[in-house]
Amino acid sequence: MPVDASSRIEAVYADVLRRNPGESEFHQAVHEVLHSLEPVLRKRPEYAEAKLVERLVEPERQVLFRVPWTDDAGEVHVNRGFRVQFSSALGPYKGGLRFVPDLGLGTVKFLAFEQIFKNALTGLGIGAGKGGADFDPKGRSDAEVMRFCQSFMTELYRHLGDHTDVPAGDINVGGREIGYLFGQYKRLTNRFEAGVLTGKGTGWGGSHARTEATGYGTVHFVREMLASRGEDLAGRRVVLSGSGNVSLFAIEKAQELGAQVIACSDSSGYLVDEAGLDLDLLKEIKLERRGRLDTYAEARTGARFSTQGSVYDVACDIALPCATQNELTEQHAVVLVKNGVKAVAEGANMPCTPYAVEVLREAGVLYGPGKAANAGGVATSALEMQQNAARDSWPFEQAEGRLAAVMRDIHTQCVAAAEEFGTPDDYVLGANAAGFLRVADAMRDQGV
Ligand code: GLU
Repeated sequence: MPVDASSRIEAVYADVLRRNPGESEFHQAVHEVLHSLEPVLRKRPEYAEAKLVERLVEPERQVLFRVPWTDDAGEVHVNRGFRVQFSSALGPYKGGLRFVPDLGLGTVKFLAFEQIFKNALTGLGIGAGKGGADFDPKGRSDAEVMRFCQSFMTELYRHLGDHTDVPAGDINVGGREIGYLFGQYKRLTNRFEAGVLTGKGTGWGGSHARTEATGYGTVHFVREMLASRGEDLAGRRVVLSGSGNVSLFAIEKAQELGAQVIACSDSSGYLVDEAGLDLDLLKEIKLERRGRLDTYAEARTGARFSTQGSVYDVACDIALPCATQNELTEQHAVVLVKNGVKAVAEGANMPCTPYAVEVLREAGVLYGPGKAANAGGVATSALEMQQNAARDSWPFEQAEGRLAAVMRDIHTQCVAAAEEFGTPDDYVLGANAAGFLRVADAMRDQGV
């Protein structure tokens, strides 16, 4: 009997809503992917018959655990830890850990789901997972963060392994936290299993260019998108949200390619420097002092820090949302379009709301979804795993060269799949379809 793609998709979505009540971000991520898969299932009914979509939207395993720890004053706290192991079709579960106070299962699930397609697009051998804790590291001492990481790993370690599940960092989990997590894993297992975590220090198994990779990769991707319309980054006004690792290194690469990067933000407000952001000063404030952006404006004449409105009010040619999910709303998109934005590429995961995406696309703005545009981080993690397996360490140029090639290839895959199943320029369709086909083929080969 022929499969009706649209009623099949509707039934899958109804099941997702029923099985995952209240998890709105997960619903949003699934809805977007399912919409893209309709033309794919119509053209390739064999994928519908094998129920690959039905299987893909259910995580393979979800782990929730208690994380007790003691603060510097001796008070006991209890947090909740998560690891959603979504898909192992292409390799060990792979994806970051984030520590944010409002983290819940629905958020982790959406992130792990996005990771399936993102990781598939890299062309490398990595499955998909995501995790973290509802822990707020703001204002916590190094010793408190260390004790928290040790307690978190004391439970998580039994679910990990270099052939099983390989976490990395994400929001509020950087080199410091990966170090503490790795130290505890090693103590518990008595194994220097370098490939069990990525984002390690370069002196003990980390890959060069891993820290820079997500931000650099996003800029490589936006450059490819512009090139497809015969345009260039040089001289363009760029605005970013966030000022963590992704933003800082996106700024670095964009400046290197001749763009004029004029604004970024943090949770306290946004900063505009029409003369071009001073990256050394930003790095000192954000990476060394772990401080806030208002201190930049105090230190540099001509710069302005604001808590009114948003960074997207600043007129630009290119916007790179690099902070967090659903931060760029329909209203922001309307302002960006009014000010003549040409391209928006997501350094963060799902930072644009669905209505914002609609506004951008209707206006003909190039829009690069996170699962394609920010895949450089996880791709370089996979390169770190390769180096660990070979007990090797590549020079910076080699790692960065591979990263640039992966980003070019992702762009090519997106355009080809978009052309095959819909319209060129539709990077959402392209990324979802190309990612899906790679995972679905592996699932089919491996049986039910
Ligand atoms: N957290 C990053 C992401 O969202 C990197 C994950 C990794 O390197 O495993 O893709």
